[in-house]
Amino acid sequence: MGIAMTIWDQSRECMSRDQLEQLQLERLQATLNRVYRNVSFYKKTFDRIGFDPEDIDDLGALSVLPFTSRKDLAAAYPYEMFAVPLREVVRIHASSGTLENPSIVGYTANDVRHWQDLVARLLTAVGVTRDDVVQVAFNYGLFTGAFGLHYGIERIGASVVPASVGNTRRQVSILKDYRTTTLVCTPGYALRIAQVLERMGIDPKTLALKRGIFGGEPWDEQMRTAVEQQLYIRVYDNYGLSEVMGPGVAGECLNRQGLHLAEDHFIAEIVDPVTGQILPDGSTGELVLTTITKEAFPVIRFRTGDLTSLDRTACPCGRTLARIAGIAGRCDDIVIVKGVNIHPVEVGPILREVTGTEPAYQLVVDRDDAYQDRLGIRIAVSEALFFDKMEKQRVMVDRLRKKIRDTLGVTPDIYLVEAASIGTDSETAPRVVDKRTRGKPGA
Ligand SMILES: [Zn+2]
Repeated sequence: MGIAMTIWDQSRECMSRDQLEQLQLERLQATLNRVYRNVSFYKKTFDRIGFDPEDIDDLGALSVLPFTSRKDLAAAYPYEMFAVPLREVVRIHASSGTLENPSIVGYTANDVRHWQDLVARLLTAVGVTRDDVVQVAFNYGLFTGAFGLHYGIERIGASVVPASVGNTRRQVSILKDYRTTTLVCTPGYALRIAQVLERMGIDPKTLALKRGIFGGEPWDEQMRTAVEQQLYIRVYDNYGLSEVMGPGVAGECLNRQGLHLAEDHFIAEIVDPVTGQILPDGSTGELVLTTITKEAFPVIRFRTGDLTSLDRTACPCGRTLARIAGIAGRCDDIVIVKGVNIHPVEVGPILREVTGTEPAYQLVVDRDDAYQDRLGIRIAVSEALFFDKMEKQRVMVDRLRKKIRDTLGVTPDIYLVEAASIGTDSETAPRVVDKRTRGKPGA
């Protein structure tokens, strides 16, 4: 049976929930003690609410602690968040953050070892072995993506090709001549490579390429399908962020029903991005992560800003680690309509449920003559989606309107439009067009 072969660390990835939670609790206790002793930000935070790390005796107690935000990390620039002296730090990276100061993150030798193991996990989970040639087309530099993947690939014993980014024709030559089997990059860059292959007259079927392991930007099933069809490969999603470690935090297995989160190293919570309240499994909200093994740069309840949901049900692959849904977007995308917070990304799954496909769509927020907010949803019509029979179309639009009202709390107007009027590229077409004149609450 292939289970042992396709799992990097069965003793950790297949633990029972009880064992896992016991391990998480022990590691959380150690982490809270470490940050309380060594990081003045956490000392102040804990003292302010009268929290003694010695008192924590169940995982639920984590929820009493305040969040850590990117602003907190930026204010600690450059090294104030480090929990060990610099002499114990063997590697330094930085986040690409949008704030003025990027977060500088450090790793001890143990941190680097864990990181390699966690990347080895996600590679093994999608079938990478020592027989593979893995081309890393991420920017080698301060950003954690390239080096994180790089050392995990070596850990597996596969051959790593540090191609970095830029010069796409050269990337294509490497793909072809080095007989790359696995491509690591952003999904957007994979599509660019597909274009250049076509321009160079190279048939992707003649390449040794079998799979793509993508991350670094939010993407969706449409993009996955596009890359798979253009490059003739299987594509897998993975998730990580510099502030928490880098790649290796979560990754899909061959079943591709969510990304297994390394719960023996990170505790995940899903919270309402506005109220901060913890949401039940299955609800979409902001991912909050607490590191429980990091020595140099631990973070407690770090708000990632990424929207996803959590699934703790069993996965056919045998791993018991919870899965997060592919990151659908950022909390910053929230739009407030009639006082209701709406995540535009929540519309996608509703469209898929009702229509069986996920067409491109756009939210348009406007005000009517009485200055009341109106939510419009423009949906790209395709042959697969809407048949020419007007009656069936009307039934489907009614179902959509009702389902969206029930889920989001606002009744939308639905417009069926030509794909070109939305734009087919998610980067060029904003998901939300807000036509209200500067009247956003709090703006
Ligand atoms: Zn699985």
